[in-house]
Amino acid sequence: MYHLKRLLAYIRPVHHYLPEYIFYTFLAIIFGIVNFTMLIPLLNLLFSTDGIPETVVQPTFSLSISYFSDLFNYYLGSFAAEKGKLYAMAFVCIVIASATLLANIFRYLSTRVLVRLKLNMLQRLRNHLYEKVSGQSMVWFNKNRKGDVISTMTNDVQEIEFSVISSFQTLLRDPFVIIAYFITLFYISPALTFFTILFFPISGLIIATLAKQLKKKGYFSQEMLGRILQHTDETISGIRVIQSFRAIGVFRERFQNINSQFTSNSKALFNQRELASPLSELLGVIVVVVVVMYGGNLVLKNELTGSLFITYLALYSQILQPAKNITSAISNMQKGFVSAERIFAILDEPDAILDVNKAKEIQGFNSSIEFKNVGFAYGEKDVLSHINLTLKPGQSVALVGKSGSGKSTLSDLLLRFYDVTEGEILIDGLNMRSISIESLRKLTGLVNQDPIIFNDTVFNNITMGAENAQMDAVVDAAKHAFADDFIRELENGYDTILGDRGNRLSGGQKQRIAIARALFLNPPILILDEATSALDTESEKLVQDALSVLMENRTSLVIAHRLSTIRHCDEIIVLDQGKIIERGTHESLILANGLYKKLCDLQEFR
Ligand code: ADP
Repeated sequence: MYHLKRLLAYIRPVHHYLPEYIFYTFLAIIFGIVNFTMLIPLLNLLFSTDGIPETVVQPTFSLSISYFSDLFNYYLGSFAAEKGKLYAMAFVCIVIASATLLANIFRYLSTRVLVRLKLNMLQRLRNHLYEKVSGQSMVWFNKNRKGDVISTMTNDVQEIEFSVISSFQTLLRDPFVIIAYFITLFYISPALTFFTILFFPISGLIIATLAKQLKKKGYFSQEMLGRILQHTDETISGIRVIQSFRAIGVFRERFQNINSQFTSNSKALFNQRELASPLSELLGVIVVVVVVMYGGNLVLKNELTGSLFITYLALYSQILQPAKNITSAISNMQKGFVSAERIFAILDEPDAILDVNKAKEIQGFNSSIEFKNVGFAYGEKDVLSHINLTLKPGQSVALVGKSGSGKSTLSDLLLRFYDVTEGEILIDGLNMRSISIESLRKLTGLVNQDPIIFNDTVFNNITMGAENAQMDAVVDAAKHAFADDFIRELENGYDTILGDRGNRLSGGQKQRIAIARALFLNPPILILDEATSALDTESEKLVQDALSVLMENRTSLVIAHRLSTIRHCDEIIVLDQGKIIERGTHESLILANGLYKKLCDLQEFR
């Protein structure tokens, strides 16, 4: 119920849908019933020996069933008396056709309201999910598998559409259909109706047990589907490595394993789901058989006329379908709730890094960025400890050390992708936690080893959606990043769409676009995370030149694998297992003859 309530909260505002929906549904049901009750006069006309009871006086108006039935009988009686039985039958047929037409028109109108409700609700849900996921912290992205997240955002939302929302449709209409039909049935024969009602709870109980089982299996199925997506995504992104290492066999086998688990669970799930419908049909027929026995008995005892009994059965058969719909809607909903649970798990994730109350907006920094005794751990694993480091305006500080020594983590702390677990980071003496994240990130430009290029135009890749971006400024940034030449050679220049992950460009070209992006943003602080390490010497030269332009007059934190690129930095920090073990200028560190010198020797450079 909790899930349902939360999903219903996405239907806003309810008064845009409900009154309209109830109005149409009510009329559709009424005309549906009128349609069936026409069987009574029709059967009487055909089979009754004593003809049509003639109502001579036109009844006086009142809002009751008896008024309408008397009115109908009045017209029918006068038709039969004046023009004969055939005309009276034609009159009944016209009423049936008109009632059917109206019932269907109103049903169509009511489903239109539901379609609107459903699509608007899903739109809201998808937007909310995307908002939540795109705003999550790095801690969250480390914890959650990409395949699972994508599966939730696509399959689970779709499952909600299929199961929960189509069940809404049933649950919002069919109970009313059943109630209205039952009222009519009571009107025809209270004794018979009372008898049939007794049978309803029994079938309900059987279906509910089945639904519980479905829920469990549904959960597992979605999880396996997430793993299938994850594995496929990994294979496609790593296909070069997989093929070159001849690991296709292993990957295929792994995929087949997951796929076979998914399939066998799905088989059980579908088998059980399919069982719901024959089971409820069987239950339904048993009920009808009992009703026929009991009602037939009433007719034989002359307590009910034949035409009323046949009409009763016809109306009663109409209840079975909505009743079946309701039971399968409930079991479908259980399956949908599994998806809802996963969606809510994402939506309920607290934002790990949030602005404090009244966070300060800063425009820049004037005196220093200071890491004061900073420590950081990924969960239990200590990655950085006792980091003391000061960045002054315009200074460049390099971080070197073996891979895994904590360099990237340290730069992530500066962007506040993670919060320090010990010590503090001060910007102009102000604790970073008290500064609004938005304004903090505005100060910092990031260029990393694997430049991210989006499936969009070159222009948009450089401006990253900045408002009022001017072409002149973009071209200027590209020129300084030595990217203008090759961009102009693309078929549509700055309007060329770069394609998925920018795979039409070389590594060096992508990197220069990333640098142009940072130049365009023009931030006072730069983080360069191994920006040249993935490039060949020739593109490295170009990128290095572009970087030098970028670093001019900026404060920068440079992580470099190739030590030749950082020798001119104002300070070089050598990290080892998360601690600073040496620091100084290139020359002083060479003289100190420690780890830095060893690393330089390994790269044959001094
Ligand atoms: P570097 O940039 O110097 O190669 P990193 O900062 O990437 O080092 O990693 C430092 C340490 O933290 C490594 O031991 C690495 O295994 C660990 N680490 C990095 N990212 C994560 C993560 N998301 N979750 C857990 N441990 C991590």
